Amino acid sequence: MQKPFVVAGPCSAESCSQLERSASDVMSIPHVVMIRCGVWKPRTRPGGFEGMGEAALAWIAEIKQRHPDWRFCCEVARPRHVELAMSYGIDAVWIGARTTADPFSVGEVAQALKGCGIPVLVKNAPMPDVAPWIGAIERFEAAGVASVMAVHRGFATYRDSGLRNSPLWDIPIELRRLRGDLPILCDPSHIAGHSDKVGHIATMAMAMGFDGLMVEVHDNPSEALTDAEQQLSPSQFASLMEMLRMPHDDEAVAEQRLADLRLAIDGVDEQLLLLLHQRMQLSKSIAAVKRCYDLPVLQSRRWNALLSDRLARAERLGLSQQFVKEILEKIHSESIRVQIDDGGKRDEDANQP
Ligand code: PEP
Ligand code: MN
Repeated sequence: MQKPFVVAGPCSAESCSQLERSASDVMSIPHVVMIRCGVWKPRTRPGGFEGMGEAALAWIAEIKQRHPDWRFCCEVARPRHVELAMSYGIDAVWIGARTTADPFSVGEVAQALKGCGIPVLVKNAPMPDVAPWIGAIERFEAAGVASVMAVHRGFATYRDSGLRNSPLWDIPIELRRLRGDLPILCDPSHIAGHSDKVGHIATMAMAMGFDGLMVEVHDNPSEALTDAEQQLSPSQFASLMEMLRMPHDDEAVAEQRLADLRLAIDGVDEQLLLLLHQRMQLSKSIAAVKRCYDLPVLQSRRWNALLSDRLARAERLGLSQQFVKEILEKIHSESIRVQIDDGGKRDEDANQP
């Protein structure tokens, strides 16, 4: 597989000329290997533009006659979509987030793709969990799809991240840990939700070693029938791709510099673990005192004071307040668990004959 593997094109195929113009713009940029365009559009609410369906597939076939080296992919959500897309010579398909969330649909689409021999790009399901994503990937692999790629398009969360879908980077990182063999692309458009933020997400993804991108690019975003806010204009896309091209250091020098820094990180992590161990031991001692004086495990006043003190220190150190708050909350809930568990164990021991 070529790396980086960049797929770009409009959210939806709207007309033959719009598709051909957008395709020609993205194909002029290095690293773009495939054109994306939605043919059937899953819309959250009825009444919007739902895609041109078979007519759009006919435009793809017509454009491919003029440009035989261009490759196209579209979303499929039903076995019938697969049959139609194959009959018009589609080069790859992607599975949308809503479909990945439904094992029955995934199973049916996987069966329809049996023997087609085209790559399948599997977007994550909207729920913040790696399991449905892996489950869908496994279903395509079990159906014999030889080239499966994952696409990270962000997750629906109750927390407002200021983005359309929260990136929750730890989930694709976990996918990479579990399935090191699998190419993972990032779709910064559906994470960002706004063209202003697409570049930042794409930069983060490439810095983290994602294998490529799927970006929405429209020849005239303000007139787009779907996702107008997040689609990049061809010139915005060209600048983004230019910015992403990072200068390469001499590989051996880079490796040595990384090895030194990794050694330092290993040392710091060791210290962190020892300190966490020490902190939990202190929690057990505190639990014993609380038990002795019949005090509740949760002491809200102390917790509030501790949190404000640590957040003020974090700020002075230039650390992200949100980051430190999340860590302290995790440590605090673990401390409460340890204090309660430890008390329970002592009671059990005391009741032993
Ligand atoms: C899309 O790529 O246009 C799309 C609908 O994406 P998702 O399934 O990620 O919402
Ligand atoms: Mn879209």
